[in-house]
Amino acid sequence: MNGFDESFVLRASGTIVRCCIELGLSHPKPALLPDVPRIFAFAIEMLLLLAAASATEQELKILRDSVSLSAEQIADAHAIGMKEPDRVRLLCVETVLRSTQPQLRATCDAINFFTLATLGLTLGYGTFIGLDRWGDRLLVVHEFADVSQCERLGGILPFLRRYLFECLTIGYAAAPLELEANALTARVCVE
Ligand SMILES: [Zn+2]
Repeated sequence: MNGFDESFVLRASGTIVRCCIELGLSHPKPALLPDVPRIFAFAIEMLLLLAAASATEQELKILRDSVSLSAEQIADAHAIGMKEPDRVRLLCVETVLRSTQPQLRATCDAINFFTLATLGLTLGYGTFIGLDRWGDRLLVVHEFADVSQCERLGGILPFLRRYLFECLTIGYAAAPLELEANALTARVCVE
């Protein structure tokens, strides 16, 4: 990940400095300033690998314990542009639980992503849906849009790389991937 501009470093520095500390790197000192983008890039790559490993583990859990899509849901998945709806599994959970990794929790806190209010979460072809929203078409179709983005970008790691970059620089609510998923959901659900 190259080409950090100053505004990126400013926006992301709080999170990344915390992550550097969690990863056992010392707080970047002024004397190290020329190295800061390199340290940040390293910290982000470490975070990505942790996030992708955790997401893959969760995906396997969902694929093991869950249900496949109904005929109506498969039609919605096709409408959103998903290539392989047959691979998707939904798992109903009381609450969508965060990773226990301290670095990932710190990142989620810093970008206000994956809070207690998170109702659904997609990891590869596995989707958690909170019990209260099981059968909520708008939420499920939004998760399908995330699956389809993951397919398009080439899997969990490239998807998370782009997603994390957008959340760190622009913020979760205005992240282009989220806006695209919301627009696709609105289009499919009013058809
Ligand atoms: Zn989303």
